[in-house]
Amino acid sequence: MKRIDFHIKERSSAIIVGELLKNVPSYIPKKKVFIITDSNIRRLYSESFPKGFVYEIKPGEASKVLAIVEDICLKLAEEGADRESFILGIGGGVVCDLTGLVASLFMRGVSHGFVSTTLLSQVDASVGGKTGVNAGGYKNSIGTFKLPEFVICDVTMLSTLPETEYISGFGELVKTAAIADRSMFYEITERKAAIMSRNIDLMEDLIYRSLLIKTSVVGRDFEEAGERRLLNFGHTFGHPIEVLNKTSHGMAVMQGMILAGQWSVKKGFLAEKHFFELKSLVESYGISPVKCLPDGFKQLVSGDKKKSGDSIYFVFLMEPGRAEYKKVPVKEMFEFLDSIEYENK
Ligand code: NAD
Repeated sequence: MKRIDFHIKERSSAIIVGELLKNVPSYIPKKKVFIITDSNIRRLYSESFPKGFVYEIKPGEASKVLAIVEDICLKLAEEGADRESFILGIGGGVVCDLTGLVASLFMRGVSHGFVSTTLLSQVDASVGGKTGVNAGGYKNSIGTFKLPEFVICDVTMLSTLPETEYISGFGELVKTAAIADRSMFYEITERKAAIMSRNIDLMEDLIYRSLLIKTSVVGRDFEEAGERRLLNFGHTFGHPIEVLNKTSHGMAVMQGMILAGQWSVKKGFLAEKHFFELKSLVESYGISPVKCLPDGFKQLVSGDKKKSGDSIYFVFLMEPGRAEYKKVPVKEMFEFLDSIEYENK
């Protein structure tokens, strides 16, 4: 078991990798507990849930809307929750994003924590304090920043995760390695068999290392005014792919990283041999590059949150383990998108 104590301003959040769901009561302050989860997690793990009212959502992205946030808040009030209550999200990124938003809005803010159950949420979604729901076709366009009291990453729960979801989470691990940890990038490339068999020790180590990077970046730039933008590598192109092609988040991010890598080569930032290392790593885990851009792609890309006037903050890869963000005209991005030559179209 490994622990990271993550401090932002006067707030702190404990991240415990390798702790078990059944031990979560020892982390919850002596308060009335309200649980938010989805029906898959409840079916598989409710016997290990702590005692408390359970609000169950339908699994999946369609639940990440303001109407559900409002419904949860109304139910919490009906069930007697107040400012002293504790909200526990048990689930993947969808549950964590919703729970965080509810916790920042209900009664103007109550304490919350997560038991993070997918690889994607363990390496990324549950850590960093970003909350959000989707609106008008834009991902996470309504949200807040609020740190959970704790995040428990129960690595044993990954054993029940469907393979596509596991690979999806893997996308964020590849991203973190690509932007900040060269040795992890090559380790992921070489240890495919152990990763795919969900080796607990290896996954605990990779998740922990990935979280060390995320927490140190977020710790220096909580509100994403600078360095935190690097964590968006692959996301500017990945988000529209996720929305329009209805692809899982991590898979779309991996396809977005390939496109971002291509642009990095075109700009002269990334050597072609390193681009092919990234591309073959992604492909070796069964993800193919996009064959064309889906209809509506440019419109969604230009509505990206990283946009600023007629320019956009875009993350380019320099080499495995190092990325840089640069402000580039949206027009130039569109010219790049128009110039892409697709394989196997
Ligand atoms: P998810 O929460 O929808 O979970 C994926 C599926 O796996 C669901 O069907 C769920 O029921 C099931 N599941 C979860 N844990 C399981 C387990 N242990 N065993 C069996 N099934 C399980 O998806 P996700 O990939 O975890 O998260 C995606 C979301 O995370 C997106 O909405 C994305 O925008 C968000 N996200 C947020 C941040 C952030 O910083 N806040 C970062 C990255 C992604």
